[in-house]
Amino acid sequence: MRLHVLGWQGPWPGEGGALSGYLLEASSGEGLLLDLGSGSLSRLTRIREPKSLCGIVLSHLHWDHISDMFPLSYMPGLADLPVLAQEEPFFARKALESGPWRLLPHEDRVLGPFRLRFFAARHPVPASCVRVECEGRVFVYTGDTNTVPGLAEFCRGADLLLADAGLVESVYAPEKPHLSPRLCAELAREAGVKRLVLTHLSPAVPPEDVLAEAGAFPGAVCAGEGLRVDF
Ligand SMILES: [Zn+2]
Repeated sequence: MRLHVLGWQGPWPGEGGALSGYLLEASSGEGLLLDLGSGSLSRLTRIREPKSLCGIVLSHLHWDHISDMFPLSYMPGLADLPVLAQEEPFFARKALESGPWRLLPHEDRVLGPFRLRFFAARHPVPASCVRVECEGRVFVYTGDTNTVPGLAEFCRGADLLLADAGLVESVYAPEKPHLSPRLCAELAREAGVKRLVLTHLSPAVPPEDVLAEAGAFPGAVCAGEGLRVDF
C-alpha cells in the first residue's frame, strides 16, 4: 500500500498548509480517501480523479476533517460513491446529505480491496479510529482522539500507524481532544507497529519539536507536504 498525505495540519492551517486528508492506494491502483479537510482536495486532484475512489471514510464530522467535501460535491461522477460518516453533529451531517454520494455508517465492511474496521475514539463528537487491511498489509489511522482503553490492541501489529499528535506536552491534558507526540510514540511501541507518522499538527509548532517528544518510537516522522510512504 501507499499513503499519500494530502493535509496534515489542524485544527486550522498555516500558510500554504492543508487540513487532515489522506489517500491510501493499493498496488492494484484502487484508492481510498480518509478525511478531506480544507486544502486536501486540490492536492488529491494532483494524484487522481476523485471519481476513481473506492470510497471515502470521514473519521468524524469536525470541519477540519470534512470542509473540502463541499466543493467536492460539485465534481462530476460521484453518484453512489460510498462515504462512511457518523450521524452527528446534526448540522454537519445535514450538510453532507446534500452531496451526490451514498452515506453509510461506520461499520466493518469491504470497499474494493480495502477491508475496514472501526474503533470508537475519545473526542467531543462521535469519532472513529480506522483499521485498513489490504494486500496483506495493515494501516491504522487514529482520527482525532485522546487516550482510550483498547486502542493499542486495535492498532496491534500495524505496518503503518497514522496518529493524532495534535497537542504537544506544554498544552496537552487528559481531558483534551487529542493525543500528544509522546503518547503517540508510546501507543506505537505498545501496539508493536512498524512505522509511525504523526499528524494533525499545529502550524505553530515546528516538526522538530514534535519529533523531539516522540523519542519513545525512534524513526517516527511528521506528516507534511507531499509525504508519501510505501509500506
Ligand atoms: Zn476533531
